[in-house]
Amino acid sequence: MSDKPDKLITDDGLRLDGRRADEIRPMKIEIGVLSRADGSCYLEWGRNKILVGVFGPREAHPRRLQRADTAVIRYRYNMASFSVEDRARPGPSRRSIEISKVSREAFEPVIMAELFPKTAIDIFVEILQADAGTRTAAINASSIALADAGIPMKGLVTSCAFGKVDGQIVLDLNKEEDNYGEADFPVAMTQDGEITLLQMDGHLTPEEIKKGLELIKKGCKEILEIQQTVLRKKFETPVEEPEAKAEETEIEAEETEPSLEYAPEAAVVEEVIEEAEELEEELSEETTEAGAVTETVPEAEELEEIVKEAEAEVVDGEAIEEAIEAEAEEEAEEETEEEAEEEAEEEAEEEAEEEAEEEAEEEAEEEAEEEAEEEAEEEAEEEAEEEAKGPWKVVKDPSESGSRGENDE
Ligand code: UDP
Repeated sequence: MSDKPDKLITDDGLRLDGRRADEIRPMKIEIGVLSRADGSCYLEWGRNKILVGVFGPREAHPRRLQRADTAVIRYRYNMASFSVEDRARPGPSRRSIEISKVSREAFEPVIMAELFPKTAIDIFVEILQADAGTRTAAINASSIALADAGIPMKGLVTSCAFGKVDGQIVLDLNKEEDNYGEADFPVAMTQDGEITLLQMDGHLTPEEIKKGLELIKKGCKEILEIQQTVLRKKFETPVEEPEAKAEETEIEAEETEPSLEYAPEAAVVEEVIEEAEELEEELSEETTEAGAVTETVPEAEELEEIVKEAEAEVVDGEAIEEAIEAEAEEEAEEETEEEAEEEAEEEAEEEAEEEAEEEAEEEAEEEAEEEAEEEAEEEAEEEAEEEAKGPWKVVKDPSESGSRGENDE
């Protein structure tokens, strides 16, 4: 075990791992890590490493443990022998039995066990690496594993400890703070703020407890957010935003509209024509005025120039319109040519098919005729042969009739 450091909190208020008094250690959660468990979670919190597997609701064994009105919740906290600096003795200890009991009780108010009578819900906790606060870390991981198993719960349970270090109240003790601090105070609460676990190791004044519980509220809120994020990531189905959908359909509608190559230019031409007409009207009005007022003449000249320019643009516009028409005509011609070619091809194909059918029919008829002739000839030959043999019946050669023939002799 390492020696006690001179100070656990530096003069500038920082702890040995660089945290402030109200900060929790970094937490990392992985969900659904065990394929044989109904729900599972791997959690790292600072240097703690914890694995939780949840099984059930399943038939409770031994049967004498079954309860007719509810499921039995079982919680087993186990420290791997390699999880601590000095080897931990394998198997249950006073400490692990105590932690298992209080942790089970921390979940009993939220698990809706009454829905599954005669069953058991088993929560197995394996501490792979311990660095203070393992019971609180295990509760946070179990909460996720239970949710992963789909066990109905009124809410998640979050857990965190506060303690007294160098006379100061700090949140979430690390190993040195736990070993050399003055007090350790683990708490678990539902997401509604209902406390389901509360333990104390050391001495604290009521004011210190009050201050510590405020820190716990802050810590548990942060942990709950992490838990919810992980669960949402796994179970939330992304919902398509209706606005985004509307935008998509708009884009699609734009895409499906026939693309007019000259459409923008045509719009410009129309605008220019309109502007020119307006200017002409204004000009005619102003020129009449200009006859009377000489000062307005330069403006009229300017307007004339604008009109000329506009007319030039109109000419351009006309040219574009002509180009559009010409192209449309060319396309129409090309289309008619293509159609004509297609029609000719179709006709040729139809003719070829008809000819092939006719040929096939003729061949079939010829074959039928030939067959009929051959049959008629064969029949005629057979009849002629029979007639030539006379009115006698054809009998078998006695030599072919075996023993019977022999007996006749
Ligand atoms: N510890 C240990 N050996 C043991 C039990 C605990 O080294 O047999 C260490 C371990 O790092 C643990 C810390 O002491 O996290 C504090 O243990 P405590 O009983 O306070 O429980 P915890 O804070 O882990 O919930």
